[in-house]
Amino acid sequence: MSFYSPPVARLVEEFEKLPGVGHKTAQRLAFHVLNMPEEKVQSLANAITEAKQKTRYCSVCSNLTETDPCVLCSGTSRDPSVICVVEDPRDVVAMERTREFKGLYHVLHGAISPMEGIGPEDIKIKELLARIRSGNVREVILATNPKIEGEATAMYISKLLKPLGIRTTRIAHGIPVGGDLEYADEVTLAKALEGRRDI
Ligand SMILES: [Zn+2]
Repeated sequence: MSFYSPPVARLVEEFEKLPGVGHKTAQRLAFHVLNMPEEKVQSLANAITEAKQKTRYCSVCSNLTETDPCVLCSGTSRDPSVICVVEDPRDVVAMERTREFKGLYHVLHGAISPMEGIGPEDIKIKELLARIRSGNVREVILATNPKIEGEATAMYISKLLKPLGIRTTRIAHGIPVGGDLEYADEVTLAKALEGRRDI
């Protein structure tokens, strides 16, 4: 039984559905909203609705965008012959922050995970292949996460690309900048050693 009035209980319930939000945090957020001035609440509600209404997936790279194709895919400043494959739109933001990558992206929206019942057909691999077949792609960088699912996905895609004769690379994994070898776990250290290069 809820001790709140039905509208408050509903608000708590809605917050609780958000990722990483437990019951306590949901309560805190709900009461925070109730204490906000009416116009601030309205502006929050509008921001949520507008973000949802005005955002779609780019028909080329599947990234979140306001226009289709997205700014990156429709621009002329990027190199369309290199495609960086990532799992999530947030990974595009992370890569863009480096200012190092000048090619285009392909967002898979997930990774292959037999444990969770996610197969290759559930993520945007088909779209990636179609894109590669129709364009002049010379390199595909697999930047999926260095976890079991991400590695399996990278492996799966690299096998599909092999017969197409396109250079396929995997981002290097290793010791974080500012890190200490002493504190790195064996897998990370082994990966760092494996990904070593000439200097
Ligand atoms: Zn795009």
